[in-house]
Amino acid sequence: MHSQKILSGKKVLITAGPTQEALDPVRFISNHSSGRMGYSLAKVLLNRGAQVTLVSGPVHLKLAHPALRIYDVVSAREMLAACQARFDETDIAIFAAAVADYRPETVAATKIKKRSDTFQIRMVRNPDIASEFGRIKLPHQYSVGFALETNDELEHAREKLIKKNLDMVVLNSLNDPGACFASANNKITLLRPGIHPQSFPLKDKRLVAIDIIDAIAADWANQAKLSSQSPHEYENMYR
Ligand code: C5P
Repeated sequence: MHSQKILSGKKVLITAGPTQEALDPVRFISNHSSGRMGYSLAKVLLNRGAQVTLVSGPVHLKLAHPALRIYDVVSAREMLAACQARFDETDIAIFAAAVADYRPETVAATKIKKRSDTFQIRMVRNPDIASEFGRIKLPHQYSVGFALETNDELEHAREKLIKKNLDMVVLNSLNDPGACFASANNKITLLRPGIHPQSFPLKDKRLVAIDIIDAIAADWANQAKLSSQSPHEYENMYR
């Protein structure tokens, strides 16, 4: 099958953007994620005929397409709930959101007043959406995560591949100049089990999205080839 058509009709779930974790009715803890990477991936997939569900944190981006459903969420727990409702039907899940790892333990009902010179916030762990999918995913389901690392990049990305039961990790290093979090560009290395890491030059995130989708399509085609072979043929390949 032509590589542009492999993902046609596939149901793809994408998370994008930051999450915001409320502290009181007017304040929250969040990060600088623009959502650009996730939205660019959605666009490429829609162009290739996929049915996309985009679960998006608060961003300033717009995307509309007949085969696109967008769920706007705010917090990590809302993002998880929106994703979980789609897990069963998902063929490919791409976790591109910068989910806050922690949230304030309590949300004040009224605006917190300044009283003392110091102020402490106790944080509790948020659920890990990629890991939740990794825990329940079936053999035909494929998942992709991102890793933003500052040190020992490959080692940390490899750990993520295993720990979150992902089929691909897109590694971006904060040590690469011009490839920062909220930037229009990105420089990535793709990690997949049993395949040598594949590095790409610095590019616009729209072009990076094409590289990632091409790699997913290639894996998907291989997976389909393997599962259509008889168990005997399959075993022989790994002897
Ligand atoms: O562990 P770390 O946050 O570095 O992992 C990043 C990857 O895991 C990204 O793909 C991100 O979308 C996903 N993730 C998630 N839920 C979290 C934290 C990270 O889905 N709570």
